[in-house]
Amino acid sequence: MTFFFISGRFSVNLVRRLLNNRQVDMKKVFLTVLLVCFLHLFAFAENLHVVLVIIDGARYTETLGDTSGQYIPNMKRLALQGAVLDSFINDSITVTRRAVPAIWSGSWTAPRDTSCYYQSNWISTQYAQVPSLWEYFRKEKSVDSTQAFYFVKNLSTPWLPSFTSSYGRQYWPNYVLLGQSDLDVWSSCLSNLHRYHPALTVLYLADVDHYGHSGDWNQYTSAIAIADSIVGMLWDFIQSDATFRDATTVLVTNDHGRHTTNFTSHGDGCWGCRHIMLLGIGPAVKSGWHSSKKRSIPDIVPTIGAILDFPTPFVSGNVITEMLADPTAIPKTDSRKLPDRFLFDNFPNPFNPTTTIRFQLAEPAHVRIQIFDLRGHEIISVANQEMPDGIHEVDWNGRGKDDRPVSAGIYFYRMTTDGGIYQTNKMVFLP
Ligand SMILES: [Zn+2]
Ligand SMILES: [Zn+2]
Repeated sequence: MTFFFISGRFSVNLVRRLLNNRQVDMKKVFLTVLLVCFLHLFAFAENLHVVLVIIDGARYTETLGDTSGQYIPNMKRLALQGAVLDSFINDSITVTRRAVPAIWSGSWTAPRDTSCYYQSNWISTQYAQVPSLWEYFRKEKSVDSTQAFYFVKNLSTPWLPSFTSSYGRQYWPNYVLLGQSDLDVWSSCLSNLHRYHPALTVLYLADVDHYGHSGDWNQYTSAIAIADSIVGMLWDFIQSDATFRDATTVLVTNDHGRHTTNFTSHGDGCWGCRHIMLLGIGPAVKSGWHSSKKRSIPDIVPTIGAILDFPTPFVSGNVITEMLADPTAIPKTDSRKLPDRFLFDNFPNPFNPTTTIRFQLAEPAHVRIQIFDLRGHEIISVANQEMPDGIHEVDWNGRGKDDRPVSAGIYFYRMTTDGGIYQTNKMVFLP
């Protein structure tokens, strides 16, 4: 909006200056008017918003698969105006701690354990190994974290986005872990939407799965009805807000379903566990449309990338083009290449006795990874061979060529390839 205002005022001044000039050049005036129109279009494209709602563990037969819509009157109403995928599935691991990070990283790459200082405590949690959608978005758009939010209730293990080199912490979202229930999370979400009008918001609602495990059908279906009412309130708020209205697309999905034969649990490959919903509503998706084409969890991030126009090079999924109102907008984002090569941060770091060094090759290459001390002396070479494309890992056990442990301190690891890559990272070996 600021950009629109400044550029608009600048252009008006330009027109005024041209008109004040006695020899008015009509061609210049025409070009300026064109420029103003272009900037307005551009400003509109820059102001699109996406809100992704994750309802944990709601089985399809209690959501959009129930034609009566008894537990989800709001989503039933929105589904008629929006886009629904009838065959959206969890195509891998039907448990929360794997499927939620897969939703927001667009990949089933396993999260890893870490500890992090959070709210005055060290907590044990997990981080995604590939970038999250917030990292892709913030890096591409150069925006601060008030444009990218993650709302979660006060979980002890909230998952962290990635530490991937060239993405990572500097592009993480505004993490809001607050409250004990879905309604608490919604109220913190609403106040922040109102205050910051973020472009990218993820709202994670955990209660349905919790009450499903309790084995109480009434509590389980009531939790679905509450999640449904939150989606309804979200959509109504968007319609009432001048910044969000006509510019915001809401996507609603689940991390997994529940067993076909028993709603109290989940985790295997049965259809009840796999079959989940993807509902979209807003200007970026078709309206009054549904599809039975099979799609899956890793397709969500690239689809949001297509809507907000940011590249998502590490995802394993694809843009759900058939769902989008303007599929011609897609190839630009979709055709962007993987970064050529990447040396990731080692993990753990600091470490003792062993650390893992990860890197990615966009094409096969001869790779050499060497460890150096502070004075630049080579300690050992931990890789020196041809490798296929993809993500690779090598371990270093903190020992030199003579197989004796090195002394504590700072070391460097350097990756070189015959393709010309040359990248160095730092690590700390603990006593
Ligand atoms: Zn569960
Ligand atoms: Zn199952």
